[in-house]
Amino acid sequence: MSRHILIVDDSKTVRNLVAFIMKKEGFSVTMAEDGLDGLEKLYAADPPVDLIISDVNMPRMDGFTFIKTVREQDAYRDLPIVVLSTEGQERDIQQGISLGANLYMVKPAQPEQMVKNLRMLLG
Ligand SMILES: [Mg+2]
Repeated sequence: MSRHILIVDDSKTVRNLVAFIMKKEGFSVTMAEDGLDGLEKLYAADPPVDLIISDVNMPRMDGFTFIKTVREQDAYRDLPIVVLSTEGQERDIQQGISLGANLYMVKPAQPEQMVKNLRMLLG
């Protein structure tokens, strides 16, 4: 069965680019434009989401708050979460990982590397 990826980013350009890469790899994709939208789409997802790719800087709810909220719920304790952000400072990476992200990637990410990492996380 096709894996279901939730892409959360306020940039339509980034959302569409990442979605294009994922669909080319055979993944099915749902897109959300900020953390709150991401939570709604995650809860409503059918089939369930297998992996989240989230931006950090977003209006309404940022990526760190989004990840923290997802990770605090038992149902999503083991759900792979990847951060994809322009914020590449050590402090940001540490925060993302400590909130429960499995992987922190800095934009622009190499598509081949991104796909390789996602496949590893999906097992
Ligand atoms: Mg952003």
